[in-house]
Amino acid sequence: MTQTATLQYDLLINDQWRPAAGGDYFDVENPANGATVARMANAGPADVAAAIAAAEDAFRYGPWATMPDADRGRILWRIADLVEERKMELGRLESISNGRPISETSSQMLVVASYFRYFAGFCDKIQGSTVPTDRGHLNYTVRVPLGVVGQLTPWNHPLMIASKKLAPALAAGCTIVLKPSEWAPLTPTEIGNIALEAGLPPGVLNIVNGFGPTAGQALASDPRLGKLDLTGGTETGRAVAQAAGRNLTPLQAELGGKAPVIVFDDANLEDAVNGCAFASFVASGQTCIQGSRAVVHRSIYDQFVAQLAEKVSTIRIGDPTDFQTQMGPVVSKPSYDRILKYVQVAQDEGARVAWGGKHPAGAAYADGYFIEPTVLADVRPKMTVAQEEIFGPVVCVIPFDTEDEAVAIANDIPYGLGCSIWTRDVARAHRVAREVVAGIIWINDHHRLHPAIPWGGFKDSGYGREGSFDFIHEYTAPKYVCVRVEPQGFDWYATTGPGQRLN
Ligand code: NDP
Repeated sequence: MTQTATLQYDLLINDQWRPAAGGDYFDVENPANGATVARMANAGPADVAAAIAAAEDAFRYGPWATMPDADRGRILWRIADLVEERKMELGRLESISNGRPISETSSQMLVVASYFRYFAGFCDKIQGSTVPTDRGHLNYTVRVPLGVVGQLTPWNHPLMIASKKLAPALAAGCTIVLKPSEWAPLTPTEIGNIALEAGLPPGVLNIVNGFGPTAGQALASDPRLGKLDLTGGTETGRAVAQAAGRNLTPLQAELGGKAPVIVFDDANLEDAVNGCAFASFVASGQTCIQGSRAVVHRSIYDQFVAQLAEKVSTIRIGDPTDFQTQMGPVVSKPSYDRILKYVQVAQDEGARVAWGGKHPAGAAYADGYFIEPTVLADVRPKMTVAQEEIFGPVVCVIPFDTEDEAVAIANDIPYGLGCSIWTRDVARAHRVAREVVAGIIWINDHHRLHPAIPWGGFKDSGYGREGSFDFIHEYTAPKYVCVRVEPQGFDWYATTGPGQRLN
């Protein structure tokens, strides 16, 4: 597999790239071959504090808040253009750090660009309203940016998830401190260079790489934030919510998931199999809406398992930087160990491996964290693998007999993020969509994404919704202004008595 020269990134604070105060760096490993591909400055609390101070100054005194709104839009649009122009280079940076095939990572840069373009259009359309109360007063609202926003992002879609947060926050006029995941920080750091090239003023975007419990906690705990926005695991969500809660910092939390793929007996089986394969194995199954549980009608169960196993057997595993590769390694040794342990636990609890389940054979895979795409059959809803987020290339196939049972299985987990329903019966599709507790439902499809749709979940999948027309409001707050227009002033102490106006 191709070796890459080791890259080095410092922290972006104001418009300066600088080492961490402590001078520490940490290594980023290519999960396909174990090579060190980058050294990242390792931010400690002092660096995070400096980044927040820079963002606060940029918000209070910089040109960001005072420039014409449309000019902010132009800069966001320029960022989108640069991302699109550099999609191959950015895709490659992502592939060598999180192991996803370059066909996926380079294509995803177009989605990144689409988030910047979508929110660029909002910059000069953030408006308040007039509020009728009584003739003596004119009331209006203006929407104001929340100030400094802290953003904590994961490694599975490193730049896309960062962009889902960066684009609306910038459009709203906020300033940002971004802490990407230690496992795949290259593209969310490179966006700093792109933003500066696009003309983003100093201090508007600050990037502090480092570890969750240190740099992440320092960011989450800082009282100067106007908002904190996390995408990550549910346990991280609890830790971050506690830290943010102490300062009453508003938190948006996009957390874990375990999406059901419900396949009825009248579904187009080939479509459902292809959809399930995509849902389960894109990004080596490391997505929050991974089709982790295929809930399949018993009358087509055996056929579905056989067809899915056959489909999965054709997925080309290999070097993520090769365009022919369809599935790369999982992101890290801890992930690799955790996923294979789940496969073992599944078998111990009575599931059957219909395909995969182990490290692929061959010298090309020897040094990487590769796991075959794995189909587990005969899974029962209460088994460990059917309940917990595996976050890897494993799908559990669970049979059901009735529509009610399918819904009950879909809902019987702590998560409520995504779900797909495969059927040709229109009424049933909408009935099941109504009953399943999930923030995102696809019918005869899975994992469709667009900046215009609201993304987020219920239960342990977190709270808040990312994207959509309304999302700009999540980075602004209404400020209410009340103007007395009646000539006569108001003296409460002269007029106190029954029936008088109080306020
Ligand atoms: P993590 O929860 O491990 O990390 C997310 C971010 O939080 C990282 O930047 C991480 O830093 C940081 N972090 C970790 N611990 C703390 C802490 N105690 N305080 C402050 N920050 C912390 O998630 P992963 O990166 O492993 O991503 C996978 C998870 O994200 C899965 O559960 C997946 O379902 C979920 N996810 C949810 C999505 C959604 O839209 N709902 C989309 C994508 C993923 P570091 O990496 O350095 O530890």
